[in-house]
Amino acid sequence: MLQRGMQFRAPPAHGIILMSLRPGAPYADSANADGTIWYEGHDVPRSVEHPNPKVVDQPRTNRAGRLTENGKFAESVEKYREGLAPPARFHVYEKVRDGIWVFRGAYLLTDYRFEWSTREGRNVFRFFLEPAFETDKASWMPERSGDVEFERRIPGWVQALVYKRDRGRCVKCGETKNLHFDHILPFSKGGSSSDPENIQLLCAHHNLEKGAGFGG
Ligand SMILES: [Zn+2]
Repeated sequence: MLQRGMQFRAPPAHGIILMSLRPGAPYADSANADGTIWYEGHDVPRSVEHPNPKVVDQPRTNRAGRLTENGKFAESVEKYREGLAPPARFHVYEKVRDGIWVFRGAYLLTDYRFEWSTREGRNVFRFFLEPAFETDKASWMPERSGDVEFERRIPGWVQALVYKRDRGRCVKCGETKNLHFDHILPFSKGGSSSDPENIQLLCAHHNLEKGAGFGG
C-alpha cells in the first residue's frame, strides 16, 4: 500500500498521501500551525528523456495523455470549485524515520496551485489540505494500526480545533511563536491524543518547563 507517495481515489473513498517534513526530503511539503498542509506534487519519472526530473515542470498528464496523480488531484479540486463533487478525501501519513510512517489523520483536498517556484526554477503543483473534522474515531483509523506512534500523534483535525480554541497563543503567556501541541495529561500516563480537551497550545518555554517537571 505505501509504495507511492500520492494515490487518488474518488470520494467517498480515501486516497493516500505520504509526506515528509524532514530536512532533505524530496518534496517541499509544509505543515501549518492551524493544522492545514501544503503538499507538493510529484515529478516526472526519471527516464532517458528526463535524466533530472527536478528541472522539469511537474506533469499534469503522462506521455499517453492520461492524468497523472497530480492531474487527478487538480481535477478533483476543479470539480469541487465548480460544485460538481465533494472535496477528495485522503489519509495522510508522515515520515518520521526511514521506514516509519505515522498517521496524521483524514484530510480534505480543497485547493491547489500550479505555480512558478523561484527556488526550483520550474513550475510545481501545491495542494492544500484541510483536516477533516471527524469526531468518530473509527472513521479516521489508519489502514495499519497497533503502532504506538500513531496513538501519540495528534491528528490534524484535533490540531486545527485546539489552535482555533486557544486562538493561536500559548495558554500560559499568550506567546504566538514556536508553539507546541501539549498533552495536558501526558500520553505516557494514558492521556489521549485524539481528545481536544486533553490538548493545549504552549510556547517553547512553557513546554520545556512542563517537560522538566517545574510547571503545569
Ligand atoms: Zn508560554
